[in-house]
Amino acid sequence: MTPRGMSAWSVGIKAFSQQDLEQLAGAEHLKRARSLVDTIDDLYEDEWSVCGTVHDDKAYLAMVHHVGAPLSSECECPDGDPGNWCEHAVAVGLCYLDEA
Ligand SMILES: [Zn+2]
Repeated sequence: MTPRGMSAWSVGIKAFSQQDLEQLAGAEHLKRARSLVDTIDDLYEDEWSVCGTVHDDKAYLAMVHHVGAPLSSECECPDGDPGNWCEHAVAVGLCYLDEA
């Protein structure tokens, strides 16, 4: 049991919770996002954001910026203006939360 580093990430503390996502995006988006989690490719995180490609009617690169408050989102889809939480950004958030 050797700690892998000092960052919150490596000790398994998430930068945000599902409740945060639900509050920002609403329960309906959260439900739809849940069905998209399995379609996500290329999930990666850095110290500011988590990003992934969500395959809906087409592939969208979506991200959640988790440094600072409130959380913010970005996505390539027509609804994905910064700060407008589309289901793709929420799905990326959920996928991140699902990781051990
Ligand atoms: Zn989107």
